[in-house]
Amino acid sequence: MSSTDSQAEQLSPGGTGNYQANAVGRKISELFGENIFSLISIKNHLTKPAYDKLKDVVLKQQKMDFETAESVAEALIKWAMDKGVTHFTHWFHPLTESSAEKHDAFFKPNLDLEAKGIETLSASELIQRETDGSSFPTGGLRLTHQARSYTIWDPSSPPFILETKNGKTLYIPAVFISYTGDSLDYKTPLLKANHALNVAATKVCKYFDEEVTHVFSTLGWEQEYFLVDEKFFNTRPDLLLTGRTIFGKKSAKGQQMDDHYFGSIPERVENFMKDFEMEALKLGIPILTRHNEVAPGQYECAPMFEETNLAVDHNRLIMDLMGKIAIKHQFRVLFNEKPFAGLNGSGKHNNWSMATSNGKNLLFPGDNAGSNLQFLTFFINVIKAIHDHNDLLRASLASAGNDHRLGANEAPPAIMSVYTGSLLEEVLSKFKNEGLTVDHTEDKEIIDLQLSKIPEIKKDFTDRNRTSPFPFVDNRFECRAVGASANCAALMTVLNTIVANQLQIFAEEVDRRNQQNPSTEDNIVAELQGYMDDVEAVVFNGNGYSKAWEEEAEARGLSNNKNTPAALKAMISESSQEAFRNQHVFNEKELHSRYEMLLENYVNKIAIEADLFQELSKTYVLPAAYQTINNLSETYRNLNEMGLRDQAQNVVAQVVPFTELIDKLNGDLLELLEAKSSADSMSDPAASAAAYADQVKPYFDKVRASIDALEGLVDNRIWQLPKYRELVFLR
Ligand code: ADP
Ligand code: MG
Repeated sequence: MSSTDSQAEQLSPGGTGNYQANAVGRKISELFGENIFSLISIKNHLTKPAYDKLKDVVLKQQKMDFETAESVAEALIKWAMDKGVTHFTHWFHPLTESSAEKHDAFFKPNLDLEAKGIETLSASELIQRETDGSSFPTGGLRLTHQARSYTIWDPSSPPFILETKNGKTLYIPAVFISYTGDSLDYKTPLLKANHALNVAATKVCKYFDEEVTHVFSTLGWEQEYFLVDEKFFNTRPDLLLTGRTIFGKKSAKGQQMDDHYFGSIPERVENFMKDFEMEALKLGIPILTRHNEVAPGQYECAPMFEETNLAVDHNRLIMDLMGKIAIKHQFRVLFNEKPFAGLNGSGKHNNWSMATSNGKNLLFPGDNAGSNLQFLTFFINVIKAIHDHNDLLRASLASAGNDHRLGANEAPPAIMSVYTGSLLEEVLSKFKNEGLTVDHTEDKEIIDLQLSKIPEIKKDFTDRNRTSPFPFVDNRFECRAVGASANCAALMTVLNTIVANQLQIFAEEVDRRNQQNPSTEDNIVAELQGYMDDVEAVVFNGNGYSKAWEEEAEARGLSNNKNTPAALKAMISESSQEAFRNQHVFNEKELHSRYEMLLENYVNKIAIEADLFQELSKTYVLPAAYQTINNLSETYRNLNEMGLRDQAQNVVAQVVPFTELIDKLNGDLLELLEAKSSADSMSDPAASAAAYADQVKPYFDKVRASIDALEGLVDNRIWQLPKYRELVFLR
């Protein structure tokens, strides 16, 4: 049974859909967050001091003490049991593509056989659980005799309830670490990077506003995905095993008509969306928008932005939810970055900014960006960080699936440039030469359609640029290069680390200058002006898809790592190690083991696809081709028997392309096998991964070209696999 099937198993018929009975007629404001142990739900269950302490932990990133944890555990079990919960689990994000959990019952039998057992959750159970780390990727951190690892409660993300056929379970967000305290998951380094950003950015904020007590980053993700009908999904072994089709002839109609984008959503899909959105709202995930994407069968959902750690948890949770609820609607949801060749792949835009304890967005340019020194300070420092750690940013986006998108003329290229828009580019260039200026960016152009009934609108401050991986949009950066299946934490950890590191360096320099010159403002301006050459080297406002940009980027010294093994190297470069070490996000051991885990993950994915090419060619494609030849031979014989020799010759002409394609396919499969054995024989993980990218993967296109051509020739009654037109046009 596949893992998705077993997920479906756990859902009772009315399971997650129960809301339908009770949600009818209920306002979103009533049901929002009802399945989470939020600050609102906890308030009446805790003493005032315990509540205040928890609030500081959640909102001000303070440390949780044992006494408060005890009060929270007591309140938590009461709240959960009132809602019919019987089990609890720590919920964590190992370095795989899904979350992990290990369930325990609240009920504890009593050893004294005359007494009854009771339901409890102790503070130590809430805080820490032990788990066997050897069943998760641990890279070099795993020693066979040392499998012990721990999950530890993350009090900044609220516990939540999910319902399955077996009842209701309380999920407690947690970090996952080894026996030696090294991180084995996505959450631990993210929390460390968030902390580093808080420290560095708060210090810089104090130049402008003494009142700021802490700073946090915000993340608003936009999740793209495909839906396919389960009956087609189940009969495509490649979709089942890899989440993508490794071959398939293009459908005569694809996305060229552009009629899917913002078109009306089929009713069956809409029911699925309503279902998971309602569940998401009950879990406190502020889902607001839903619409079709460019490719047929492709959709997107996006919540309102939240504090980054929470937003990352919510993205992971909603991906899990969508997978489960899709099954209820006889769909399968695909998060793979490239499920179908010739159709747009799926990404996950990460909108990112920073906010202060007093509610200010640090990347809001205001009416006059050129004289807004606080905005310029954060804006320029972010761009400088992107310039200095260009390779590392790219590495954080790398995966086997995303290699199909980046640089493939539908998603941003693999060159990590920043788009500012022409107005801000002008502001920056003025700042470089003249320092602070009044630019009156508030005098926005008016767009007047000259239509009497349509109101005039003000033109937005920045345009949108779909070809840039890192555009600035209004008051945030929107990283468009994240893959749909990625855990947002990978990018957020790197981004917050490099920005924290840059802000720390900046503050040290400003403080040093302050010793000589008492005007902090002058010192800030001078320090920022010194960054402008680097800033200009990474800002690009033109067409990122063009060949000319690739050449210019090379001349500017920006890297263009087109595949995962090449990109991942930057993780362990001197400058990356230094930033991670300075900000206490990864030690050297953790970084190297993570690097190895990601390489291994890449190799596994490509190896599975390579094996599937062999197997599906031999068990589906070639038999279908031979069968068609047999049928044609019979026709040939029959025509000859009837004395129709010319017509018989036409049949021979039909057979020829088959034999050519079969020979070509067999030849390429053999070479693919050899390339793979050679890659497998390499003991160095980096060399082996590079061989997979450079020697093995290039055969995929060759092999699929023959298969796709054969699909177009084989008798339709013989071809066993669902075709693209069936997979992508949902009914
Ligand atoms: P589009 O698809 O045009 O890019 P959407 O409206 O779908 O735009 O998504 C914009 C996203 O940006 C939303 O998730 C929104 O919450 C997020 N966003 C807006 N302001 C911020 C901010 N300050 N920090 C982080 N994300 C933000
Ligand atoms: Mg977007």
